[in-house]
Amino acid sequence: MKIIAASHLDHGLNNEQVKYLLDKFSDRTGFFIETIELPEALGTVPCALRGPAVGDDPITEDLVRYEHRGERSYPSRVVSNRNIGIYRDLRDLLQEKRTNKVTVIAGPAEATCEKCFGSRTIFSDADGPDHGGEIRCPVCFGLGTQSYDCAVYTMYGGPLAPKEPEDLLGEFDRIENFDDTLDRAAKEEKLSRLAVEHNESVKFWSQHALVA
Ligand SMILES: [Zn+2]
Repeated sequence: MKIIAASHLDHGLNNEQVKYLLDKFSDRTGFFIETIELPEALGTVPCALRGPAVGDDPITEDLVRYEHRGERSYPSRVVSNRNIGIYRDLRDLLQEKRTNKVTVIAGPAEATCEKCFGSRTIFSDADGPDHGGEIRCPVCFGLGTQSYDCAVYTMYGGPLAPKEPEDLLGEFDRIENFDDTLDRAAKEEKLSRLAVEHNESVKFWSQHALVA
């Protein structure tokens, strides 16, 4: 398992914790999701999830806002201190929650080449057999991208939460309209599994929210 530029590492894990997780899962290949407990010596991490899955009451609609997080194209259900004074008293919910549980999601990824940054060529040094100049990038072989068998998608404190409904709708659209690698039957199967996942996600995210 490897960290790439697209890995979401903005969830408050410190370097030591990240290093422990990279070591622990270093021999993994392909897609996996795992929730583990950090050794006591590594301390705890912040947990942004609020709701029954982490011991709270259901997060009702009057407690949340819908806000875009980071570069995501869809708004998330969020408990924010910008709600204070407008709705109910959110101080309890906004209090930092810490946990020794970390969820890691990783799998295959394609990323911009770390050597040529996608430009497909590099300048070789003048001592080389080609006497310098622009040559095909030797790391990505001129493709501009590198493939990873197991790259970190995200690591965060707390239990596994279902993908957000809007995220799944985006996936639905991608498979339905843009994926040429699947035949019709495989597509239908994948889409019906996504529909089930979407139902569960809607249910979960009607009772949960993220602190942002
Ligand atoms: Zn390259």
